[in-house]
Amino acid sequence: MTDQTPKAPGFSTLAVHAGAAPDPATKARITPIYQTASYVFEDVDHAASLFGLQAFGNIYTRITNPTNGVLEERVAALEGGSAALAVASGHAAEFLTFHTLMQPGDEFVASNKLYGGSINQFNHSYKNFGWTPKWADPDDLASIEAAISPRTKAIFIESIANPGGIICDIEAIAKIARRARVPLIVDNTLATPYLMRPIDYGADIVVHSATKFLGGHGNSIGGLIVDGGSFDWMADTRYPMLSSPRPEYNGMVLGQTFGNFAFAIACRVLGLRDLGPSMAPFNAFLFLTGIETLPLRMQRHSENALAVAQHLSNHDKVKWVSYAGLPGDRYYNLAKKYCPKGAGAVFTFGLKGGYDAGIALVKNLKLFSHLANVGDTRSLVIHPASTTHRQLTDEQKTAAGAGPDVVRLSVGIEDAADLIADLDQALASVA
Ligand SMILES: *Cc1c(COP(=O)(O)O)cnc(C)c1O
Repeated sequence: MTDQTPKAPGFSTLAVHAGAAPDPATKARITPIYQTASYVFEDVDHAASLFGLQAFGNIYTRITNPTNGVLEERVAALEGGSAALAVASGHAAEFLTFHTLMQPGDEFVASNKLYGGSINQFNHSYKNFGWTPKWADPDDLASIEAAISPRTKAIFIESIANPGGIICDIEAIAKIARRARVPLIVDNTLATPYLMRPIDYGADIVVHSATKFLGGHGNSIGGLIVDGGSFDWMADTRYPMLSSPRPEYNGMVLGQTFGNFAFAIACRVLGLRDLGPSMAPFNAFLFLTGIETLPLRMQRHSENALAVAQHLSNHDKVKWVSYAGLPGDRYYNLAKKYCPKGAGAVFTFGLKGGYDAGIALVKNLKLFSHLANVGDTRSLVIHPASTTHRQLTDEQKTAAGAGPDVVRLSVGIEDAADLIADLDQALASVA
């Protein structure tokens, strides 16, 4: 940004400008796609200092890339974090986060109301690394406290949980994490920093599936890790990736050298370097373009979702609607506190006709696309019990808000009247 205004820029200004400037080499106004695997060193000393982490600079696109760097700065600015790391997917963001925090034999406390893919990742793949999830109900703070043990290394929640659209009391859960001296990780995919900034309420780390609302157009897979800059990794020896000397970097202690952005550095120079799930620069370019309109899209997504939820809650084939933006909803007060600009695009409702009605509705919708994604400009629908959540036990399905009668919508930015008309015609054909 060339304009030096004394006041900190607002969110919409940051969404367009943060991290970016006209390209110094070509004066291209839009951030170029730096489609290169590696970068020429200035000389041998420069090369040595880059490899030793004594200088910041590009070596190889698995670890850093200038297009990705603009995206990282922008998302860090929007979330109010100290630094961010772009990675190949939302799941890669979760994986690298835990890889930096956990040793074999460690545990973490996870909300039982999460995206089904996260539940699978934690329950099955993480067990192979010796990382054990302890499930707790985010609506029951005592269950979170009770799940904490001396081996607990983190607490993981979603700000707005997929698919139920429920809101977590982040401030209260952050206090529990602080007392246990473990970082609170918040998956902020469904809220995006436009609706809610978890770091403002005490979260230490934010992760994203950029695939969803950050990118916003359903055209690429990506993830981000945001370092809140708040956690003291050097307080004890429980996070050795950050607090103990690294043999591969001449005994450097990352938590000491990099201070309030040490976590993001560790995820990059240990996790991303060794495990390798990098974001393609082309995808970073698409995410940057998407984020420019994030405030406009989230506003419209939330307005449309509220209109659709209100309509469904008065429909005689609908048993219940779970949308935190609806007055009277169980999470309405938490939504008012944490996301006063809107409760997001994703919510669930139940059909009186149960499992079969869910299948019939999905079959008959025309404007809503039946697919496994959220956060597209287009309206999307899925019946979780027969798709995203089918691997879970019935008990886990119900706990995750994905029982047999449940339909999930991700309401797009089309005209609300057209979305309501499509739902009405499809509901008319449901027995
Ligand atoms: C989709 C999603 C993920 C996983 O992200 P991918 O980009 O698909 O790997 C994680 N958390 C939430 C809330 C999601 O919706």
